[in-house]
Amino acid sequence: MTPIDLRSDTMTKPSLAMRRIMASAEVGDDQYGEDPTVNALQERVANLLGKEASLFMPSGTMANQVGVKLLTQPGDEIIVGNRVHLALYESGGTAANAGVQMMVAGTKGTFTLSEFQLACRYIGDDARPPTTLVCLENTHNRGGGVVFPQHEVAAICDDAHARGMRSYLDGMRLFNAAAASNHSVAELAAPFDVVSIALSKGLGCPIGSMIAGPRDLMARAHRHRRRFGGAMRQAGMLAAAGLYALDHNVTRLADDHANAWLIAQRIAGIKGVEIDLDTVQTNIVIFRLDDAMPAPEVISARAKEQGVLVSPFSTRTVRAVTHLDVTRDQCVHAANVLAQVLERR
Ligand SMILES: *Cc1c(COP(=O)(O)O)cnc(C)c1O
Repeated sequence: MTPIDLRSDTMTKPSLAMRRIMASAEVGDDQYGEDPTVNALQERVANLLGKEASLFMPSGTMANQVGVKLLTQPGDEIIVGNRVHLALYESGGTAANAGVQMMVAGTKGTFTLSEFQLACRYIGDDARPPTTLVCLENTHNRGGGVVFPQHEVAAICDDAHARGMRSYLDGMRLFNAAAASNHSVAELAAPFDVVSIALSKGLGCPIGSMIAGPRDLMARAHRHRRRFGGAMRQAGMLAAAGLYALDHNVTRLADDHANAWLIAQRIAGIKGVEIDLDTVQTNIVIFRLDDAMPAPEVISARAKEQGVLVSPFSTRTVRAVTHLDVTRDQCVHAANVLAQVLERR
């Protein structure tokens, strides 16, 4: 039997309907600006995010790398939340590609205006690194898929701009944030100079992210994408999947959130398991095992024996992520399997 794969929302496979649309996409050479499907996707996403222009990217990591490169000079300091993708999972890219150093604001992943202000060290002298960019992650993965409170987002970006800094949003799960809040993605993106979103996570595309912002910055992003080796040719086959996903896979994200909630509810209260239900706002469930419990690797191996895949996430935590390739019934079953494994000790 195929396992119920809750390791990540990147595990989704393109549906038959999506593949059909991809196969019949109208294409051209995107380096000549002649791929009509890429052009349509870029225009659609720019409009959706309320920005002048957007650019198709092969991955979220490249979107982040281009975003930071675009908005900084070597030697700058950028402010990020604790345990963000930019710092943990991009292979040192911000240092290697943009030559910037990072300062962490707050401890939770999301942070407040005053935590941001504490992290801004530049006071005008030449000894300190210029703090030129603030980067937010929304939703915040390692924080449990939490939505960055929008009043803090607005206050942080206002303050950053008043200091002459710029702002960047790693919004790979921005559609999840929108589904979990009363805001549109355009509202969530509005405070930022540059914003990225992923098509290859909750939206179910095989490949692709988008970066969006002012037209002049996107023209420069186009050059950086080329320099990073991310310029593509008949990418319309991939862009077609993105257009399909925006039509069919956005409103259903609420189902993923409900499924994550039911898994969290099922395992909350099991002895030895700590889970902060306040952090279960979207499609990610992170729970902590106390010292008397087996290691996360042991728990995930036992769940795997029963056909449920979850990720050992840190030395004491496990992560489960819901997505469009797992049904509600499968999530109910997976929650029961996890509960059984956790109760066995
Ligand atoms: C997955 C992810 C990325 C990177 O996206 P890839 O397409 O896997 O390179 C960046 N930021 C966050 C918050 C992510 O979850």
